[in-house]
Parts: sequence; C-alpha cells; structure tokens
Amino acid sequence: MKSRLFTPGPTPVPETVMLRMASPIIHHRHPEFRAVMERVNRNLQYVFQTSRPVLTLACSGTGAMEAAFVSCFSPGETVIAVNGGKFGERWVQMPRAFGLNSVEIRIPWGHAVSAEQVLDTLHTHPGAKAVVLTQSETSTGTATDIQTIARAVREHSDALVCVDGITSVGAHELRFDEWGIDLCVTGSQKGLMIPPGLAFVALSDRAIERMERSTLPKFYFDLQRYLRAHASADSPWTPAVSLILGLDEALEMIRAEGIEAVWSRHRRLALGLRAGFRALGIRLFSESPSYAVTPVWIPEGVDWTAFNRALKTGNGITVAGGQGDFAGKIFRVSHLGYYDDLDMVTVIAAIERALASVGYSFPSGSGVAATQRALLGIT
Ligand SMILES: *Cc1c(COP(=O)(O)O)cnc(C)c1O
Repeated sequence: MKSRLFTPGPTPVPETVMLRMASPIIHHRHPEFRAVMERVNRNLQYVFQTSRPVLTLACSGTGAMEAAFVSCFSPGETVIAVNGGKFGERWVQMPRAFGLNSVEIRIPWGHAVSAEQVLDTLHTHPGAKAVVLTQSETSTGTATDIQTIARAVREHSDALVCVDGITSVGAHELRFDEWGIDLCVTGSQKGLMIPPGLAFVALSDRAIERMERSTLPKFYFDLQRYLRAHASADSPWTPAVSLILGLDEALEMIRAEGIEAVWSRHRRLALGLRAGFRALGIRLFSESPSYAVTPVWIPEGVDWTAFNRALKTGNGITVAGGQGDFAGKIFRVSHLGYYDDLDMVTVIAAIERALASVGYSFPSGSGVAATQRALLGIT
C-alpha cells in the first residue's frame, strides 16, 4: 500500500527535490554553492513578494520566530500577540521567555481577529513595539486578513507588523512589500515542499533598523550577522547544504508555476475538498477557512481513534488530529504544498472508505462526486 501524507507539516516532497538532495555535498564557501544561494535568495524574495532580504536559517519555523524576537526587541518592551490557536498561543508565550511584556488578544478557535480588535488593543497599549499575527492558524485552519490589519496597524502606530506565515507562504496571497509587513517567517516543511530543517525570515527596513537598538542577548540567532552575510549570498555559519539544494529545486518549481497560480491552486483544492466534506454531511470547523489545511468536525457517533486507524492502516493515509481542546473532536486534512486535484479526489475517497468502515452512513461516492465537480468547476 502507498503511504500518502496529508498533514500540514511535514508535507510531501516532490521526487525532483528528493533527487537533488541526494546529490553530492558541495562546499558552502565554494562559488558553486554561492550561485545556488544567489538563485535561492532571489526566488525567496519572489515567493514573499519582496525586494527586501529573506534570510535562511537552519532550524524549524519556531526558531526563526525566536531569532526575529531576540534580534528586534529589548527587555521590557511590549508586543501584542493574537492567540486564536496553538501557534498564536506560542507567540504570546515566547516573548515572555525573553522578558518582554506580551499582551494577548484571545480569539475563539476557528475565528479570525479583526482590524478593530487589533486597533482597540493598540489603543490601550500605545507603546507596543509589535503586533504578531498568524496568517493561517494551522491548529484551526483559520485565515486572517493580513492586508487589512497591516494597513490599520501602520496607520495608527509604529508597531512592527510581524506575521507567522508558516502555513500561508505558498498557499495564501501574501505581498510583503505592498501590504507593509515588517517581518514574516516560514518553515521549509510546509508550503515550500522540502523536508523539515530550514526556516526563513523576511525583514523590512523598519525591522532592520530596530535590530540596531535591540539589547536582548543573542549570538547564533543574531539576524544582523545573517544580514551581513546575505549581502554576499553567504551565511554566518555552515548552512544545511543538502536542504538548500532541495530548496533551490522547489523554488524553481514555484517560479515555473507562478506564485499567483500556486495561490489559486491552493484555493481550488481547498474549495474542492470542502465541497466533498459538505456532501458527506461533515461540518467545517473554521468560520474563516484557510487554503492550507481544512479542519472538520468528526461526525456524531464516529470514534476518532477507530476512524484514524482505518485511514492509516486501511488506506495508507495520514491526516492530522485536533489539538488542545479539540483533540478527538476535529481532524485536519492538509493541501499545503505539493498537491494536485487528484490528491483531493484520493483523500476524500479514502475518507469515505474509512467512514464507511466505522459505520457512518452516507450515499457512497457522494463526497468524491462533489469534490470532482468543484475541482472541475461543474455546477
Ligand atoms: C508548523 C507551524 C509552526 C511551527 O513551526 P515549527 O517548524 O514546528 O517550529 C508555527 N506556526 C504555524 C502556523 C505552523 O503551522
């Protein structure tokens, strides 16, 4: 049986990327690697839609966020962080670990924060140095309108607009420069279609200026060092050479497809899958659904453990369960990265099989048919 991964990180890796990663190691200070790095840096700017530097770090997404915090802020400063799920919660906790004061905007899971809520909080904390937002909250499959909120924050304060783009970069429209984002982070194992181990930070001029005044302790994760090295397509420490070769391949694929086409493919897949779930009588979890991952309520009477076992051992399909209070209540199907129409038909077919095997009743094939029709645009 084939194994098929439908989790929102790690995500499947294309064969060409795997082959490239299997090529012999080259030395990172050699011109051959420098040429790769130059292309990678340019293509990352394209993916983030920015003319500013996008730095590559050897860590997961959380590490890149930590690097950004320790490089831009100083003890005692206030940051506002939106907590609408597992990852938002992390961005409330992390600044506290570094002696920053974090102000939490708590949002019910499955809902998105509004510009008004952010502005109200900025109003009561006018000295806040940053607002931290998650464009696609992976635990809840919820998308936040970064464009509108970034504009509002910029009009009313000097706070940096910091975006966790870990499951949105490469899935949702994101225009770093045009939208006035100051800092945006992503990880390799999500929309960029390579294995875990790399993370990326895009920085505005305002964020770079803040670094000069930041007094938090840092060494390995000092982004000023990365910036200086970036100017000559270099890195301060030994980079993860094999992953970067894979990244080069993956970014060339994104370039060839076109970033707008990549965003619209994610939208089409998300809408196709949602149509299938609806036809099966399965309710969507989020009020503001993300195009990266679709969480749904587990139907009444269906046991998550038995259903998940049927998916995995009976069909070779790995999906993600619910997190926190929603463990056992929802499950999440990812379509982030290397997926196409037939992957959606496959996963909804497998979900039908697993549901049938645990006694959930529905007209057989109704989910598959609805997904097909939505993907093909048949009304
Ligand atoms: C996966 C994820 C993270 C955490 O990234 P790691 O690479 O596991 O450190 C943070 N935010 C979001 C939205 C994610 O999906």
